[in-house]
Amino acid sequence: MPEPLRTCLACRESAPREDLLRLVASPGGQLTVDLKGRLPGRGVWVHDSLACVQELERRKGAISRGLKQPLLPSEPLRVLILDALHRQVLDGISLSAAAGRLVVGQERLAKALDRGEVAAIALAKDAAPRTVEGLREHAPPHVIFVTLEVGKDELGARLGRGLFAAVGVIRTDATRSLLRQLRRIGNLG
Ligand SMILES: [Zn+2]
Repeated sequence: MPEPLRTCLACRESAPREDLLRLVASPGGQLTVDLKGRLPGRGVWVHDSLACVQELERRKGAISRGLKQPLLPSEPLRVLILDALHRQVLDGISLSAAAGRLVVGQERLAKALDRGEVAAIALAKDAAPRTVEGLREHAPPHVIFVTLEVGKDELGARLGRGLFAAVGVIRTDATRSLLRQLRRIGNLG
């Protein structure tokens, strides 16, 4: 069966759901980013690209008209989306850590990068520049680096122990969603 297509409200082009973000409003008119695409009610879709998100920020009324509902004032759309993505990524890191799909520790990470096992690196916001440079030296060009909004302590807590400046995500079916959200942060951040 072909993948269902949705239309981006900003550029009017059709795309698979995976390439789009869904926006919905609560009954009270609070604009909400529906990353899982499962919240009830009318939704509108926008590409997970900076160009389309900024286009909708400029045309404030378009979302409200698309949702057929007045909206409460909110943060700029890009900020709302990034907040939702960062929350989702932290949950994804906890789940992937539990499933053994993450690599931590400078030396283990460098080796896993050399072997081409790592698709993305998530960094604590207080990761030392030297740490980041050291990892970049081992990273093939396709590996994305994303700085999270949490420090080493909270990243460590998500991993269940200690302080961690960086975590590598291995590409598997189990990390598909986490990698997509990291890529989106990279696009919009
Ligand atoms: Zn678009």
